[in-house]
Amino acid sequence: MRLDAAIVGAVERLSPSSESARLDAEILLCQSIDMPRSYLFAHPEDELDTHALDRFEALLQRRLEGVPMAYISGTKEFWSHELLVSPATLVPRPETELLVSLALHEIPQDAEWQILDLGTGCGAIAVAIAGERPLCNITATDVSAEALAIARENIRQASLPNVSCLEGSWTTPVTGRLFNVIVSNPPYIREDDEALQSLRHEPLSALVSGADGLDDIRVLAVDCISSLIENGPLMMEHGPDQQEAVAGILNEAGWAEITCHNDLGGRPRVTVARRSGK
Ligand code: SAM
Ligand code: GLN
Repeated sequence: MRLDAAIVGAVERLSPSSESARLDAEILLCQSIDMPRSYLFAHPEDELDTHALDRFEALLQRRLEGVPMAYISGTKEFWSHELLVSPATLVPRPETELLVSLALHEIPQDAEWQILDLGTGCGAIAVAIAGERPLCNITATDVSAEALAIARENIRQASLPNVSCLEGSWTTPVTGRLFNVIVSNPPYIREDDEALQSLRHEPLSALVSGADGLDDIRVLAVDCISSLIENGPLMMEHGPDQQEAVAGILNEAGWAEITCHNDLGGRPRVTVARRSGK
């Protein structure tokens, strides 16, 4: 079969379940023949040998089962870093770049601050901040040893000596330390949310947080206070419908200046609160 025909056939099969059927088909085909995408446009008439055709079919099957492209290719781009991901890590989302940009806004270019990223997964937020603020020290934690192994590899590949990883639940691994800024994209999906069906290939422990999706945010709201300097911000991503609940939890726990920020789609996604000086 010719390369162009293989793409047409794959697009037809992928279209009902993927919004990016053509791109998916091209990337999977490139992975099957071990060539860059430009090769497909330069040599559409090339014939696929049986081995490549078998590989392509196997990759297509995984995609048709709903496996995210990032798990099939093993990488995902985030804040211009090509990051390794695995089924032990969430696939970093573009909306999480809002949390990164708010954190960078908070951290002066020449600051030599201590930054904490809780629940780092593949290390996306920590790597992005560390690359932009080389004088800061970033501590990245996760309860999953498998996720941390991926994060460590991403940190190594990005040549970032200013990030260290610690395993443990939320602030437990940093007990007694003080940070200038804490960032977190914790699990925040309700355990009965229908959206989980389409996220079934990602780790539940990275996504789900109790009946209302707020169990981990409740823990962070209480525990992070003693890990921040006075006026230091806690910056957390949450679901677009959780703005009021998150503000209520933070208010109850004694945080000041609670402000919510919208993503590019205008949906409230990141709440920032400061450790009160009082
Ligand atoms: N920060 C990454 C990102 O933005 O792509 C991953 C975020 S993912 C939504 C949440 C992460 O929190 C997962 O990596 C999960 O393993 C971690 N996590 C879940 N419960 C935790 C806990 N009790 N303590 C620390 N990390 C936890
Ligand atoms: N943003 C992810 C989603 O809705 C959820 C990530 C999380 O729970 N932090 O697909």
